[in-house]
Order: sequence, then structure tokens, then C-alpha cells
Amino acid sequence: MIKRDGRSKKERATWKNYYTYTLANLMEYTKQLGWSVELRRGSASLNEANFDKKLITINLNQRPELRVYALLHELGHVSVRRSQGYTYKFPYGELDKSQLNTNRKRIGILEEEIAAWSKALDIAKKRKIIIDREVFDRDKSRCLMTYIKWLRREPGW
Ligand SMILES: [Zn+2]
Repeated sequence: MIKRDGRSKKERATWKNYYTYTLANLMEYTKQLGWSVELRRGSASLNEANFDKKLITINLNQRPELRVYALLHELGHVSVRRSQGYTYKFPYGELDKSQLNTNRKRIGILEEEIAAWSKALDIAKKRKIIIDREVFDRDKSRCLMTYIKWLRREPGW
């Protein structure tokens, strides 16, 4: 685990370069998996993996470090879906949002989200990508909270 409190301007610039370089690298790796990556400006929630198009979209309105974590997470989704026994573990993952109309199905989606974040760490470790765990966990929690809020908003509660 690394800690980067009190870093100087120069150190911050070095980390920024590191994550910019790492993002390019990770995008190359994504292409090798047969997926495309698009960097787009948009709302904060615009990080997604489209399985029909095999397209990962990453929001440019976040700093390079968070773009890397977002791409790792989306690659985590790709890995989770390709894993053996996917439909057994996550039977609701391929349903439309309109079909996710019960607590049990929505919890299933949340479970897959958590699994994708866990896979993101595996991919980072395997590819020797440096993670600031505090920043990573904060970003992960922010993303998961949007799912939790969505879960609670729907009828059936
Ligand atoms: Zn996700």
C-alpha cells in the first residue's frame, strides 16, 4: 500500500504521468482482449462496459488515476462474465434494467459490481499497476453507493 500525503507538485506531476502512461497501456491490453475503449466527456457515471458492442467507455471528466481505476473495474466486469460458472453465480447480470424488479435480482447486480471491483484489484496486481488503496476504495465506495441508492429507490422496499 502506498501513501501519498503531502506530496509536492513535482511528485503529483510524476504520478499524473504514471497514470496517463498506465491508462494507455491498459487500453492497449483491452484491445488485445478484443474490446474497444472510448474516452468520453460526460456525466460522472459514464464508465461502462457494453457487452453487445464489446465497448468500454471511460469518462474523461476524472483525473488519470481514476480513469485507470474505472478501466480496471470495467475489465473486472469482462473477467467476471468470462469466468466459469458466471450464470450460476450471477443469474441476473444479463437482464435489462426494467426486468430488475425484485430485491433479489438487484442484490444480484450489486454482488456482481462488488465482484468486478475485486477483480479490478487482481488485474492491477497481475499487471503490476500501483494502486493507492485509499483513493481506490473511496472511488469504489462512491460507485457502489450509486447502486445501493438505486436499489433502495425502486418499489418493493
Ligand atoms: Zn460496474
